[in-house]
Amino acid sequence: MSTFNVVQPEIHTAPIGSPAVWDPIMNRSGGRCECTGSCGRSHSRTEFRCDRHHDRGAVRLVVAPLDLALPLEQAVRLPVAELRAWCPDCHRLARRRHREAAAHRKLRQQPPAEGLFDL
Ligand SMILES: [Zn+2]
Ligand SMILES: [Zn+2]
Repeated sequence: MSTFNVVQPEIHTAPIGSPAVWDPIMNRSGGRCECTGSCGRSHSRTEFRCDRHHDRGAVRLVVAPLDLALPLEQAVRLPVAELRAWCPDCHRLARRRHREAAAHRKLRQQPPAEGLFDL
């Protein structure tokens, strides 16, 4: 087996790995997580916004849609305004919450059982 490896830059922009998206978002956010509570934590001690900064090695922010329940193939077509920088913790927690919310939305979209909402 060859030991030669092409060293690729780490995909720090996952799940949306486009520099065209990464750069403007990092400029806007100042390399800081843009979560303002979607993850379920209030971030109340840091002006209601997560204060984790992109720091290669320690914290690697990801770029992902504001609505994390969105499938990736839709997310990659979103404008920068609909995307956020997330630190890994906020991203993981918020995604779980958004998925749960989306599952609830689906349930509610199903026609209500007859007589459930009698007026
Ligand atoms: Zn965060
Ligand atoms: Zn957060």
